[in-house]
Amino acid sequence: MLFDDMRHGAAATCPPTVPTAAPARGRGGAALRALLATLALLAAAAADAGSAAILVYHRFGEVVADSMTTRTATFAAQLVRLRAEGYAIVPLATVVDGLAGRAPLPEKAVAITVDDGHRTVYTELLPIIRRERLPVTLFIYPSAIANAAYALTWEQLAEIVVSGLVDVQSHTWWHPDFRVERRRLAPDAYRQFVREQLEKPRRTLRSRLGTEAAMLAWPFGIHDAELETAAAEAGYRAAFALGERHASDRDPPLALPRYLIVDGLGVAGLLRLLRDGARRAPEAPR
Ligand SMILES: [Zn+2]
Repeated sequence: MLFDDMRHGAAATCPPTVPTAAPARGRGGAALRALLATLALLAAAAADAGSAAILVYHRFGEVVADSMTTRTATFAAQLVRLRAEGYAIVPLATVVDGLAGRAPLPEKAVAITVDDGHRTVYTELLPIIRRERLPVTLFIYPSAIANAAYALTWEQLAEIVVSGLVDVQSHTWWHPDFRVERRRLAPDAYRQFVREQLEKPRRTLRSRLGTEAAMLAWPFGIHDAELETAAAEAGYRAAFALGERHASDRDPPLALPRYLIVDGLGVAGLLRLLRDGARRAPEAPR
C-alpha cells in the first residue's frame, strides 16, 4: 500500500507540459513569446526539483586504509565546496518526501548516507556532524553492531542519535548477497530468509534505539522486483541501490540510486560526478 502511495505521489509531481508556441506576430506575439519563455523556465525549475544527489560513504580516517575509506580531510573539503557551489545538504527523508511529491525539494539537494556502521562514524564523522550541523543517514546491519571489531556499539549509536542530526536505518540483518542466497536456498526458504533479513533490523532498531526504520540500503546495491515487493511488505517506504546518477521522481522509490564515494574522487571529482549524474537522471516516465 505504501509502495503504491509513493508511486502515485511521484507521478503527481511530473513537470507540467509546456504548450508549443503558435506562430505569433506583432506586440501581442512578443508578449506571448515572453510568456512562453517564462513558462519554459518554470517548467525547467520544476524538472530540477524532481531530482537529488544521494551520496554513500563507508569509512573515514586519516589515511586511506582500504578502498572504502575516505580521508576525513577529503570529506570536510567536499562539504565546504558543495556548499560553496550552492548544493543544499538535506536529510535523506527530505529527498524521499520531495521525490514523492509530499514536500518541497530544494534545488541542488544532496543527501549524505553512510553504510555498514563502521566505528569511524563515531570517532571521525560525529565531530564533523556536530560542528557543521550536518544531516546524515546511517544504514547499519544490526548483527554486526557490538559484535564485529570494526563496528559501532549500541551505546555509540545511541549517542549519535541523540545529536538529533542522524537517523539510523536498515542495511538488512547481516548484509547478505541476495543473488548467492537465492542460488543456495529452496524458493520457500529463500522467501523466508529475505523476510527475516528485512524485518529483523526494523524490530531491533525499534527496541534498541526507539527508532522507526522506514528506509533500506540494499547490500552491494543488489535488488530486483521480488526483493522490492518484499521490502514494501516489510514496511519500507524507500530503498537505495547504487548508480552514478541523481535519484529522480521517475525512479521507483524502492530502487533509488546513490553515488558511491571513494577517496580518489577528491573534491573536483565529486563535483564532476554530480554535474554528469544530474544529466543522467531519467526524464521519461518509467
Ligand atoms: Zn554495505
